[in-house]
Order: sequence, then C-alpha cells, then structure tokens
Amino acid sequence: MANYIIVTGGVVSGLGKGITTASVGKILQMHGYNVTAMKIDPYINCDAGTLRPTEHGEVWVTEDGGEIDQDLGHYERFLDINIPKYHNITSGQVYGSVIDKERKGKYLGKTVQPIPHVTNEIKNRIRRPAKDKNYDFILVEIGGTVGDYENVLFLEAVRQMKLEGDKVLFVHVTYVPVLDALGEAKTKPTQHSVKLLREIGIQPDFIVARADDLLDSVRKEKIALFCNIKEEDVISDSNIDHVYAVPLLFEKQQLCKKILRKLRLRKDVEDVKPWKEFITNIRKLEESVTIGIVGKYFDIGTSQLSDSYISVIEAVKHASWKNDLIPKIQWIDSKEFEEDSDKLVTLDHVDGVIVPGGFGLSGIQGKIDTVTYTREHDIPYLGLCLGMQLAVVEYAQNVCDLPNAHSKEVIKDTKYPVIDFIPEQVNILQESRYGATMRLGSYPAILKKGTRVHELYGKDEVEERHRHRYEVNPDFVKTLEDGGLVFSGHSPDGILMEFLELPDHPFFIATQAHPEFKSRPIKPAPLFDGFIKAAIKKKRNNPNASLKQIA
Ligand code: GLN
Repeated sequence: MANYIIVTGGVVSGLGKGITTASVGKILQMHGYNVTAMKIDPYINCDAGTLRPTEHGEVWVTEDGGEIDQDLGHYERFLDINIPKYHNITSGQVYGSVIDKERKGKYLGKTVQPIPHVTNEIKNRIRRPAKDKNYDFILVEIGGTVGDYENVLFLEAVRQMKLEGDKVLFVHVTYVPVLDALGEAKTKPTQHSVKLLREIGIQPDFIVARADDLLDSVRKEKIALFCNIKEEDVISDSNIDHVYAVPLLFEKQQLCKKILRKLRLRKDVEDVKPWKEFITNIRKLEESVTIGIVGKYFDIGTSQLSDSYISVIEAVKHASWKNDLIPKIQWIDSKEFEEDSDKLVTLDHVDGVIVPGGFGLSGIQGKIDTVTYTREHDIPYLGLCLGMQLAVVEYAQNVCDLPNAHSKEVIKDTKYPVIDFIPEQVNILQESRYGATMRLGSYPAILKKGTRVHELYGKDEVEERHRHRYEVNPDFVKTLEDGGLVFSGHSPDGILMEFLELPDHPFFIATQAHPEFKSRPIKPAPLFDGFIKAAIKKKRNNPNASLKQIA
C-alpha cells in the first residue's frame, strides 16, 4: 500500500515547496524506496499550456505530452524519473470531469456538491498512481498557501483520505522571517498558518521552516509547542548554495528516519554517497563557463526570467558540472540587437550562445542576427526549437540565397516559407483550439551516422520532447542541404527535420526538440554536454574574452 506525503504551504508563496517536495522524495529514494510525485494546481486552466510563462514560469513538457507546472520538472530532475501528465491535477480538470459526469447522468437523482462529489473526484485522481504502479511513496504537493479559497477542496480531500484509512503524512512548509529592526526570527506567521491548517482538520506531522539561517532551539521549541508537534519534527530549511543540496540538509536532520518511524516502516538500504559526492564536487569547482541566453526579455524582471527558462538553465548547470565548470548565465535581450547592431559584439564575450524556445514575433530579428553572428564568428551555438527554426531562416536568407525566407509564424505570406505549419495544425488554429494541441511530448528521431549529433548521443535513434506548431518545410530541405546545412536527424518517416548542424563550425547545432527536459543533475543532456565542451574550448583558446564586461 502506498504511503502519501502531502506537502502544503503557508505564510507566503514562492517558498520552494516544489524543491522541498522533490527533496523529501529524494531522501526516501536514497533509502531504497520507490517514489513518485504529483502536483495539484488549484487554477481553473486544465493544464499549464495556456498560461503565460513570464507570469507562471516555464511550461514543463512530460514524455506523454502534458504541458505542466514547472514543479514536475523539479521532481523529474531530483528523482531521475519520468512522470506522466496525469500526476498534475488542476481545478479545471476536476470540475470539468464532475460537470461532464453530471451531464451524462452518472450522479442521477443526486444533488451534485463540492463535498462529496468534487472531493471524491480529487481523491480518485490522487489515488490513481497507486493503482498503476507499486509505489512506496507518493508525494503530493498542493499549490498555493493555506487560507487561499481555491485550494480548500483539495485540502478537504486529503483530510478525508487520512480518515478513510490511507497512510498519509502531512508536511507543512512555512516561512520564518527575521525582522531587521529586531534581528529576531519570528515564528508567529508559522503559528497562524498551522492554526488555519488545523481548522481545516489537518494536523501537520512535520513543519519545514524556510528561513535565511538554520532555526535555533528556542524557535523550534516555540513552533513545536504552538503547532502541536514534537520539536524534532520541526525541520530547518535554510538558504543554501545549491537547490540540489536540500536533500542533504534534510538527511542531516534525519527527516527520512523520522518519516519511516511515523509510518512504522523499516529503513532499507542507504545510498546517500553518490549524491553527497555530486554536491561536494560542485562545491569545489573553480573554473567558470559563461553562456549567453538570447531571448526577448524587455518587460519582465530577471527573477521571473530564470523561472521561464528554468529547464534550459538547469541543463546548462548539469552539463557544466559534468565538465567540472561553474556555469554562469548571461541574459541577452535580442531586442537590443535590433536597436543597435553594434551590440552584437557582446556575443564575443560569452563562451557559447543559446537561442531557446519561444513564441510570438517580438525580438525575432535580433535572434536571427544572433545566429548570423555566432555562425560567422565561430561562437558555439545551441538552438532549441525556435532556436532551430531561426537557424534555418538565417541560413536560407544568408547562405542559400532565398531573400526574405522566413517562418510562417513570423511572416504569413513569405515567398520562401522555410518554416511552416505542421499540416495538422492548420485546422486546429482555424478553429482556435489552443489548449494541448501543439506537437507535444516525446517523439523519436533517426540520427545520421557520421554527424556531430550522432556522435554526441552515441546511438542511431533518440527520443526527445517537443512543444511546437511549426516545422522545417520539407520542400526546402534539399536547397538547404545543397547550401551546406546538414540535417543530422529526422522523424522515422523522414519528413520532419529534428536536428541540424554545420560541419565546419566549432559547434553549431540546433534541434526542433527540447532536450533540456531530459537533462538530469548527474546525467546531462548530450547536446548540452557537447555544447559546454565547445564553449570551454573557445574560452581556453581566448582566455581574455569572457573577462571583459558585457556592454
Ligand atoms: N513558436 C515555435 C512553434 O510553435 C517554436 C516553439 C518553441 O520554441 N517551443 O513552432
């Protein structure tokens, strides 16, 4: 029978509940348990695909094509597992199916109500993974904070689960602020948030207290007394240099042992060593590599930025660490290149350039100019999805003599539509069916022997995750190839181009997929690994370049 660990949050949002959930999962996994995780998002959207990434953060794509909250990315990275899309539950899905069942007469004769009908639907969904697989632990993170109207029914559902005999532990993540004027850590917000939780009928088993520093015993004692738990069950979650070090912080406080004791489970194997070594190694690194990420960043602050590109950043980190390098990210706004092309020389001062995925028209020309500059100046280039489409556009315009060739996403009536709709997208867009209708999830690609991409992956066939509506137009493949562009991988039917490269460039590779979604801390994505290797080679050949300030 699966054990559920329900993670709730209090006091403020943005405490890193996703990292906490992933870290609790990680320590259980390191002790030999079979773990998975779920995320509950109380918003009405059926999935994260229709949310704005600059507000909500990145849209994570699962193997089976789910467009999900970025927390699932944390779970997959920490736990090194693939999580199916049904592990993300939203209010939209829950209400949608309750209303659907009501219309189909499934509740005939009954008054359909939030409790029990909506809560039953929620419980069924939370219990589904346990029916599919034999998990020891299912972590369930409930989005939002206690006291929000929108997550009340989810909290009620998990309260009922415990009453109905499911093995459930509650972990409540709170914040302990230090007021400048007093210099003292205050536990009152935590007390109030637990009070709210207990009013709903949930007594937390553990309180994970986020704070700048580790909690002292006075604070722990106070939280324990006022929140009705033992002092040892107050877990300190202080600021730390790497998110991947959080599991070790919990392990040090014996959180795994305490969880197992409460559930009367035996401690199995213990294999914390590889993770410890991984953290120790990254803490020892001295040499850095600077990667420029070129996007359109004008109207959002940098903190949101890193959230919108979190998987790309993590993939850069993983690959850098594997190559014993400290990753440094330089945000470059492509709009600036449009205003002043002299600014393109700033690209000389990074060691490699990524043009990541993106939608919409703004900043596009600046990105195309970026491609030209990296191509002509031998700067390592990695293009991801839109980054591949623009590499094709650039090559068509400047090398293949197809003036004004473009993507139909940008110029609808372009004479040379080198990037065009995937055929099935035409009707979808005409009918304005925007939710979950892109080419989504994992697709296979056949790699061409003798290419750089084949060498990096080390195999003939790979699968990567996708999220896009446009593709390289098959009608132009020959012209592009005749012009020297190498398509190093394509769909098994040979129609869709999945990878491209330039043989005479130190590193110019782009893919229609998003390999960043499969990058793991100890197992970086092969294309990122190759890209970082090329970037550090460039830096070592020209050591002064990246020291210069970027204008
Ligand atoms: N906007 C492009 C498309 O829909 C690229 C999408 C992406 O970069 N994920 O095809």
